[in-house]
Amino acid sequence: MGLDRNQRRFLRQTFPGDGCVLDAEAAAVFGMDSSRLADAPWAVVRPETEEQAVALLAWAHSERVPLFPRARGTNVVGDCVPRGGGVVVSTLRMNRILEMDGEDFCAVVQPGVVTGDLQRELAALGLMYAPDPASVRVSTVGGNVATNAGGMRAVKYGVTREHVLGVRAVLPGGDVLRTGGRNHKNVVGLDLTRLFVGSEGTLGLFTELTLKLLPLPEATASVLAGYAGVDQALAAARAVLAAGILPTAMEFMAEAVLEAVRRVGDVPWGPEVRAALLLRLDGGCEALEAETRRLDRVLGPTAPVFLERGTGADEERLWEVRRLINPASFTIAPDKMSDDITVPRGRVGQALERIRAVAEQRGLDILAFGHLGDGNIHVNIMYDASRQAEDAVAAKRTILGHVLALGGTMSGEHGVGLTKLPYLDQQLSPRERDLMRRIKAAFDPHGIMNPGKAY
Ligand SMILES: Cc1cc2nc3c(=O)[nH]c(=O)nc-3n(C[C@H](O)[C@H](O)[C@H](O)COP(=O)(O)OP(=O)(O)OC[C@H]3O[C@@H](n4cnc5c(N)ncnc54)[C@H](O)[C@@H]3O)c2cc1C
Repeated sequence: MGLDRNQRRFLRQTFPGDGCVLDAEAAAVFGMDSSRLADAPWAVVRPETEEQAVALLAWAHSERVPLFPRARGTNVVGDCVPRGGGVVVSTLRMNRILEMDGEDFCAVVQPGVVTGDLQRELAALGLMYAPDPASVRVSTVGGNVATNAGGMRAVKYGVTREHVLGVRAVLPGGDVLRTGGRNHKNVVGLDLTRLFVGSEGTLGLFTELTLKLLPLPEATASVLAGYAGVDQALAAARAVLAAGILPTAMEFMAEAVLEAVRRVGDVPWGPEVRAALLLRLDGGCEALEAETRRLDRVLGPTAPVFLERGTGADEERLWEVRRLINPASFTIAPDKMSDDITVPRGRVGQALERIRAVAEQRGLDILAFGHLGDGNIHVNIMYDASRQAEDAVAAKRTILGHVLALGGTMSGEHGVGLTKLPYLDQQLSPRERDLMRRIKAAFDPHGIMNPGKAY
């Protein structure tokens, strides 16, 4: 299929100048995201105003043209890939911070604002928007809301869903819907705001988001603790929580990850470190000092073989290690299949054990690391697609089976997109999927919004 002459004319008129890309070669780059899957868009449009979005969604609804919302394309599940063809809607020109209000403790932003930029502006006012996916310097608020992004601080502050107070969205057909508002509490009717969060672009196009803010903590401090094995690192994490310390972040890295990072970076630990915890605390200066001393007292008896503390610039150096994981992983193999499984927190050890067994059985390197405090572990199956594709797929299926058997979920923060769709029936009952599809149909009766994704 594709667009006919009248449809192309409509797009050119509604999105003048470079607001509309019809050239196939120029549009192609918008057909891929960080999943590395790709498909060719029929066109790309870049709305700057809500009026343009309304015209687009009214037209697409009546013409039955599929729309694929896209921000920075950092999602790793194929959420932005225009599978089956359609028009990609780039949100990056709707990128204004409209309000930062320290009385109501809320910010109102357009969806294309980069989350890290918002956080920087807020910090200057002593305010904080808590969600912080590792992609925070590039990904957008709209993309984060549509995927219910998690991040390092989720262990203390929760995921994006906990920080969205209101959504303004254009629905298929062109109606503008406003849900929620500036209230930090609201229990009137079904929670449509929360329904939008994590909807992966399937219900409507966000044009404005009202976010919950918090006072910015005065200071932060971090500790990187290395252990001789995974069991010791997990025991140390349990000891921290059992002592009543709730870190802002509690990250975990297993041996293969540490080795990969060692290959690309100047790391301070030696080969005796086979598992590591990276912890961050935050709070007022005096309280933080006391809490840091308490953390030291708890970690001492857990027998770390490496320990480094950091504040300020030193602290960022510790976190750089975490950011090196993605580039480092490609020193192992050219291809990667990534999952972000989550299990009940007490079962992380069992999950890691089973992942290690699958890696051995299939002869693959499988990296396990991530948000230990939430039981959310990133599982990167590294492989060479020219000879190990079948093994990688089989490993993924087996790991997801183990995760579900442990009472876990196949995605803690990345969503389903295209890549997890084939496995969805392992987790959701037919009744649940049917209900989800009927809810979508209530918003989008002709199925034009990001079709073939999520559920
Ligand atoms: C290096 C790296 C680290 C990452 N770390 C994390 C992490 O720690 N935690 C985490 O949760 N994720 C992480 N991710 C995944 C990714 O960054 C998140 O999914 C992020 O929320 C996507 O934001 P984006 O702006 O790139 O959106 P995109 O990828 O462009 O889009 C994501 C989804 O949002 C929809 N969408 C975008 N804008 C709108 C809109 N205005 N209206 C309706 N739907 C819209 C799209 O249709 C799509 O379904 C990471 C990715 C990378 C590459």
